[in-house]
Amino acid sequence: MIAEIAAGITSIKNALAVAQTLRDQAKLGPVAPDIVTERLLLIHDHMLDLRQALLDAAEREQKLIEKIATYDQSKEIQADLDWEPDGGYYFRKSERAAGKMIPYCPICWHAASNTIPMANHKYPGVFKCGLHEPLYTTKVFEEWQNKQDAARRRNIGRFAPGGSYT
Ligand SMILES: [Zn+2]
Repeated sequence: MIAEIAAGITSIKNALAVAQTLRDQAKLGPVAPDIVTERLLLIHDHMLDLRQALLDAAEREQKLIEKIATYDQSKEIQADLDWEPDGGYYFRKSERAAGKMIPYCPICWHAASNTIPMANHKYPGVFKCGLHEPLYTTKVFEEWQNKQDAARRRNIGRFAPGGSYT
């Protein structure tokens, strides 16, 4: 049982005990008005405690409902995520089926179940998370880099001593 409900039940028991005491005293003869007032104030205090316990229980219930909703949403996303080995990141199957190619940061997903879309880096085929350092490079980048290297080698050959002007 959650603590707030237990506290509420204790408050009810306390109030009933005070009422019982008053009833027992009344059976023995007239009870002085100040005693009656004192007992009623005690019952009143226990009712305030009960009210607080119910408010606390309602607050806890609300938090649990929100937690469950977050959990359900996370499960739903988990089922939709798939791993892209070329680059090493996640994508959502539903988005890819709809023609959207959004890469999601694997660090953010594993650390906090956050689906953080990664941005394109300045080089083609490279993605970067806004929250983390590592770059995610794909075959597109490797091909682009190989072309750059080849072009650089051609240029070096062209201007190197003895190189031919082609
Ligand atoms: Zn990240």
